[in-house]
Amino acid sequence: MHAYDSLYIGGEWTPASGEGAITAVSPADEQTIGTAPLAQAADVDKAVTAARSALHSAAWAGLTPSQRADAMERFADELEKNQAHRAALTSKQNGMPIAVATAAEGGAPPGLLRYYAALARTLPREERRPRLDGLGDTVVRREPVGVVAAVVPWNFPQTLTMFKLAPALAAGCTVVLKPAPETTLDALELAATAERAGLPAGVLNVVTGGADIGAYLVAHPGVDKVAFTGSTAAGRKIGEVCGRLLRPHTLELGGKSAAIVLDDADLEATVRGLATSSLLNNGQTCYLSTRILAPRSRYDEVVAAVAALAGALTVGDPLDPGTQVGPLVSSRQRDLVESYIAKGRAEGATAVTGGSRPVGRDKGWYIQPTVFANVDNNASIAREEIFGPVLSVIAYDGLDHAVALANDSDYGLGGTIWTSDPDKGLDLARRVETGSVGVNYYALDVGAPFGGVKSSGVGRELGPEGLAAYHSLKSIYLPSQGAHQ
Ligand code: NAD
Repeated sequence: MHAYDSLYIGGEWTPASGEGAITAVSPADEQTIGTAPLAQAADVDKAVTAARSALHSAAWAGLTPSQRADAMERFADELEKNQAHRAALTSKQNGMPIAVATAAEGGAPPGLLRYYAALARTLPREERRPRLDGLGDTVVRREPVGVVAAVVPWNFPQTLTMFKLAPALAAGCTVVLKPAPETTLDALELAATAERAGLPAGVLNVVTGGADIGAYLVAHPGVDKVAFTGSTAAGRKIGEVCGRLLRPHTLELGGKSAAIVLDDADLEATVRGLATSSLLNNGQTCYLSTRILAPRSRYDEVVAAVAALAGALTVGDPLDPGTQVGPLVSSRQRDLVESYIAKGRAEGATAVTGGSRPVGRDKGWYIQPTVFANVDNNASIAREEIFGPVLSVIAYDGLDHAVALANDSDYGLGGTIWTSDPDKGLDLARRVETGSVGVNYYALDVGAPFGGVKSSGVGRELGPEGLAAYHSLKSIYLPSQGAHQ
C-alpha cells in the first residue's frame, strides 16, 4: 500500500482541509493499492498563495538563470535515483506496461529537466536591439509569466507533468500541479523528490482531486497561466474560462491520427512500427495513428498484417516485463472502449481480430487489441477518439485521396507515413494537417515543438517554443545616448 496523508503546499506536507480521500485501484486486479487526501477549494487557495509568494521570493526570483538551472539539475539527479520506483508506481496505477513506463515515466522527466536547464543557461534574459526609427534602443526582456496551473491526465502522468514543470522552472515560474485522480500517488512522489532535491518552498505545489478541483484551480484569480493536457471536451471548457479571463493557456488535447501506408511500403517493417506508433500504452496515447489508411490494391494484405500484429501482442500484467498490452486505466475506460467496439460492428465494420475481453482474465480491465476492417472514414470509430487498443483500416484510391482522408478529421495531433521512398514520405508529410508526423516511425523529439491543430489543441510544448510559453515579454524603450526628455 502506498499511503499519502498530506498535500504538498509551500514546501510543507499539509493535511487536506476536508475528510475526503482518493483511493488508487489497480487496473490489473482491482485491488486497492494506495490512498491520498482529496484537496478542497481552501487547499487550492493555500497552494496558489504559496506559489505566488515563491514567485517573488529571494530563494527563487532572486536566483540567476544559471542558479535556477543548477536547482533543476539537482532535481533531475534525485529523479534519476527513484526512476524505477516512479515507473512502477505509474504502471500500478494506470496499467502502463512496465517496459514503456521505465523508458517514459522513469527516464523522460530527468531528461526534460536537463534539456530545459541547458536552455535556461544559454537563453539571454534580455536582448538589446537598435530601434527601427533610430530614436534609441529597446531592451526586450523575458520575464516569468507567473504562477502556472498545470492540469494533467493519467496516461503519461510523470512525463506530461514534466512537459510543463521543466520549462516553467527554466523560465522562473512557480507551479500548482493538479494530477488526474487515477494517478495521484506518483504526483505526490514527484513532490517528495523535489523536496529532497531542495527545490525552494512553494515553487512546486501539488493539490489532488477531479475535474471540480481542476476547474477551481484554472479559474483562480492568483493563477497567471494554464497548462493543460487532457480531453478535447475538458480543453474546450478550460479554453472558454481562459478566454474570459484573458489568461494565457496551452491545451494539449485528443487525437485521431492517420497512418498512411503507401503501396511501396515494406509491410513487415511497417507493422513492427505500428506496434508502438498505433498501440503504445494500451492504445491510451494521444498521438497514436489509430486510422490506418491502406491502398485499395494492398488492402487485404494490410488488414491481415495489422490483424496478425494485434493478435500476437502479449496481453498481461503491466508489471511483467514481457507484457506488451496491459489493462485499461479504469472500468469506465473499458466500458467506453467496449461501447465503441459495439458501435463499430453496428455501423458495419468487421472486427478481424480481438473485439472482446481476453479469456482467463476475470479481474482487471483488460480488452483484446482489436482491428476493424471495412471501415468508412465517416464511421464513429474513425472519427472519435477511442483511447484504447482499437484500430480501423480504411481503403484509399491514390495519394490525393489518402491525404484527403487523413485530413478529414476534427483532430490533427500526430500521424505516420510508411514508404520505402523517404523523399516521397517527406512530401506527403508536408501535406498532412497535423502538429507532428513521422516517416517510417513516430517518436517525440524533446527539442522540437509538439502540439495539435484543429480540435487537438492550442499552443506547443517541448523545444525552445515550449519555453517561450512560460515567458512574458517586456519591451523597455531607451533613448539614444545623450538624448534626454
Ligand atoms: P480529462 O480531460 O478527463 O482529464 C484530464 C485532467 O483534467 C484531469 O486531471 C482532470 O481531473 C482534469 N479536468 C477535467 N475536466 C476539467 C475542467 N473542466 N477543468 C479543469 N480540469 C479538468 O482527460 P483524461 O481522460 O484524464 O485523459 C485522456 C485524454 O487526454 C485523451 O483525450 C487524450 O487524447 C488526452 N491527452 C492529450 C495529450 C496531448 O499531448 N495532446 C497527451 C495525453 C493525453
